[in-house]
Amino acid sequence: MLLVMRKNATQEEIDAVEKAVIEAGYTSRPIPGGERMAIGVLRNAGPVDPALFAGMPGVAQAIPVTRPYKLVSREVHPHDTVVRVGDVLVGNGHFTFMAGPCAVESLEQCLAIARAVKAAGAQIFRGGAFKPRTSPYSFQGLGEEGLKILAKVREETGLPVVTEALDTAVFDLVEHYADMIQIGARNMQNFSLLRRAGQSKKPVLLKRGMSSTIEEWLMAAEYILEGGNSNVVLCERGLRTFAMHSRNTLDLSAVPVVLKESHLPVIADPSHAAGVRDQVLPLARASAAVGVHGLMVEVHDHPEKALSDGGQSLYPDQFVELAGDIRAIHELLMARAK
Ligand code: PEP
Ligand code: MN
Repeated sequence: MLLVMRKNATQEEIDAVEKAVIEAGYTSRPIPGGERMAIGVLRNAGPVDPALFAGMPGVAQAIPVTRPYKLVSREVHPHDTVVRVGDVLVGNGHFTFMAGPCAVESLEQCLAIARAVKAAGAQIFRGGAFKPRTSPYSFQGLGEEGLKILAKVREETGLPVVTEALDTAVFDLVEHYADMIQIGARNMQNFSLLRRAGQSKKPVLLKRGMSSTIEEWLMAAEYILEGGNSNVVLCERGLRTFAMHSRNTLDLSAVPVVLKESHLPVIADPSHAAGVRDQVLPLARASAAVGVHGLMVEVHDHPEKALSDGGQSLYPDQFVELAGDIRAIHELLMARAK
């Protein structure tokens, strides 16, 4: 349930409502709005009786929340959330490109790619220092050395960096170096990792699990918001299907559903969906057309030598073309929305 306070509600009235919520056995979550305060009633096992709070001084409305993902839903927070990553904004009219290699391999490699993608318009640099690999024999990432390289790239280029926290053991380290913490598809339902991300002051990029429903994805985001971190960006990166022509199947029909259900920004990752370079540009165009707030794209200056995901990494020139096309599509949608 959402208790919307009157515009002129006093702090005493707000405090009294919060106290009543707690005394009724629920958790209270103040949700400041532009003009008025709202109080979310959380951790209720069944429906909450509106009569408990509706008549209290200062309460304008008691609105039942029907969705299981409460803080993530538009029922509780109707307006689009804009997430800040360093100085870069993601969501609601801001189109954000996150680009870089799959894995951080060396400072030279990262700087060359970062400079190229920045020149093409990328605002955030991506690169994994801790890599989730199917085989234990594959390159696992440079670890802390990779994080230091990312910090150096930020220093040299001014681009904020997003990188994956593979588990709770490395979370503190990643949080220390990164501007945005990625939770990968394989970890979307790693609940201890989600809870740890909920305690972070850094924004989180939450990728959709490769066989997760939209509800499971939004519930995963709910863990992070419930923990106190509202700066979550959702990322559709493709699902495992019977298709053999691509690594995954980019679920673009999920995008309008999630945009309708949730106030959180949604981006797409056509690289991990495609798995092959040739499909990345068309899927990126299609993602922009369904209204994502940004894209995460893998780019490598020597993809044939890449230590991971070389086959799906764009050459820098291809990223230039992609960014140009996407800007044109985004501008068209923005002009239509006016
Ligand atoms: C990645 O972004 O490098 C990655 C491993 O992505 P995903 O978790 O979507 O597979
Ligand atoms: Mn990758």
